[in-house]
Amino acid sequence: DLCLKLSRILSNQNGISRQQANRTIACGHVRVDGQICTDAAREVSRFQSVVVGRQILQPGEPAHYLMLHKPAGYLSATRDPVHPTVMELVPPELRGHLHIAGRLDRATTGLLILSNDGGWSRRLTEPRIKIPKVYRVTTAHPIGQDAAHRFAEGLWFAHEQLTTSPATLEPLAPCEARVTIFEGRYHQVKRMFHAVGNRVTRLHRERIGGIALPDDLPPGACRSLTPAEIGSVR
Ligand code: URA
Repeated sequence: DLCLKLSRILSNQNGISRQQANRTIACGHVRVDGQICTDAAREVSRFQSVVVGRQILQPGEPAHYLMLHKPAGYLSATRDPVHPTVMELVPPELRGHLHIAGRLDRATTGLLILSNDGGWSRRLTEPRIKIPKVYRVTTAHPIGQDAAHRFAEGLWFAHEQLTTSPATLEPLAPCEARVTIFEGRYHQVKRMFHAVGNRVTRLHRERIGGIALPDDLPPGACRSLTPAEIGSVR
């Protein structure tokens, strides 16, 4: 989401010049989230409050960060004519405001994150930032000896003309593994197994960066992220 310089917020809202705004800020008359801010170039988001003297210039919208234990069968979409969507599982008053930070396929289960803070969720999903996404995978055929090596080297995705970032594969059983990827390309885990001659039959996301799906959150349930979980992405 867009951030604006504090001086611009003052001049936009009050119809005063940037110079006047700068002076007001420098004099210590402006608070951002309750703290006096004398830096006119401070970047302020719509989630922060700005108060000049006693006048509330912007109240600061509430930011929402939720985790959902996605059940199989639900689409990671805001609406769909055929299938139920994950939005049906979040509190109704938040439905219209949230977007999904990193979608899961319809049959995939596990950790899904929803927010109304686009800047925050972009960091979660941006391939360049390389936040680990951890999946538990069940396959149709025994996982080959070379799979871990091939995942670590990166696999060529012809459609996007790119090589996947090095991923890790930890074998758990002949047809089961824990896989960590650092991007979230379209059907990425399924396509990686396809590339090594196998097929994913079950897929469950356990963790995204510092945010792990807790054992006591049943399928279909959601809860707010803790400040530590939100902060782990910054
Ligand atoms: N990779 C996939 O193939 N599907 C998912 O749902 C998530 C990662």
